[in-house]
Amino acid sequence: MLPIKPTLPIKPTLRIKNGRVIDPASGTDAVLDVWLEGDRIARVAPPARGEDGDKNGADRAQAETLDATGLIIAPGFIDLHCHLREPGFESSETIETGTRAAACGGFTAVCPMPNTRPVNDSASVTRGILERAATASVRVWPIGAASAGSRGEALAEIAAMHKAGIVAVSDDGKPIATTKLLRQVMDYCRALDLPVIDHCEDASLFAGAVMREGRQSVRLGLRGMPAATESVAVSRDVQIAELTECRLHIAHLSARASLELVRSAKQRGMRVTCEVTPHHFTLCDDDVGYDTHFKMNPPLASAEDRAALIEGLADGTVDAIATDHAPHEPASKDVEFDRAPFGVTGFETALALALELVHAGRLSLARVVELFTTGPARVLGRGRRIAEGEPADLTLFSTEHEWTFRASESASKSRNTPFDGRQFRGAPMATVVAGRVVYRREV
Ligand SMILES: [Zn+2]
Ligand SMILES: [Zn+2]
Repeated sequence: MLPIKPTLPIKPTLRIKNGRVIDPASGTDAVLDVWLEGDRIARVAPPARGEDGDKNGADRAQAETLDATGLIIAPGFIDLHCHLREPGFESSETIETGTRAAACGGFTAVCPMPNTRPVNDSASVTRGILERAATASVRVWPIGAASAGSRGEALAEIAAMHKAGIVAVSDDGKPIATTKLLRQVMDYCRALDLPVIDHCEDASLFAGAVMREGRQSVRLGLRGMPAATESVAVSRDVQIAELTECRLHIAHLSARASLELVRSAKQRGMRVTCEVTPHHFTLCDDDVGYDTHFKMNPPLASAEDRAALIEGLADGTVDAIATDHAPHEPASKDVEFDRAPFGVTGFETALALALELVHAGRLSLARVVELFTTGPARVLGRGRRIAEGEPADLTLFSTEHEWTFRASESASKSRNTPFDGRQFRGAPMATVVAGRVVYRREV
């Protein structure tokens, strides 16, 4: 419970009243009012009774009010992994449309991967992204490439990009190509205290495969890759992280064996973290047919792996839920399974899919909030709290609101989702970034 302080008067610009504040950083879970002043949180206090007699010291007349009765007020959600496609692939998504979809999904900050055209491998590309993001719906924290052009040969301009504002490096879309290069990248990033995010995949096992190897790939006659495609690479990465003492974050972890490697690295005190996507904890390879909206990389795993991922989400081995939002314009997915690009959209369904686990009794609500907020913040070496003086980034959501997701109504430019028509219980209701309401669900 937060202390009640009769503090200095504030001139609030927004009062979010009567919501259940869940703040993992302080362990708060209580019905409170949150007062914002400009782009900061000004006060967090028990709801004042009556409209006058202002014991919270707030000049209430000037504040707009957002009624959060029955809703959760969480710190602003952070998505560690997405593809905004700009620059270069604006027919699939732009920073504007992608961040609008992110706001609809309750996200207040998103980290776009560098596999744009040009690749974000230099300070000038990073600055260009940040300039475009100045008018975006949510905060954009770019991830820079590890190697020039993500070609896996020479190092990218990591120090210059760091100065320009990247929050991590990755060659996502591909793994960091060689162990030697990985070592160089990690030596460099260790000095800058930047996390290295790797898309873990052994290229020789991956070659030509379009889904997870198993009964279902045989039944469908599609080329499969074994789970070891991922876990072999995770093992390499953990060993080089141990050698260099660099922070390592495993992107879109999908296999039990990979999770075991992360678990044991954590037990040894290493700074190794990982994320899991909603599609990997919701679906499995049995759900794959010839519908290209079920084709992503890493592919949907076995039911046993999915069960292990849910366990890892619950027990703290997994640090973050990340969407890997990967929009593709309709025409590109409208081909045979073998030829379709990998990837699905994810911003708008992520929270509702996580809440399915809460309703099923697999995950606590507090844990879900952590996986979208303090968890990803910690991966980036940042804090995320609901407290006086902190940035006014907040996500308001309902655990009960019933709705149906319609891809045709998505704010994203693309429609490639396996969850079109899915009925949900629970949804983002309002998203506040720097004190501004950037999204409000119409009910
Ligand atoms: Zn990837
Ligand atoms: Zn990705």
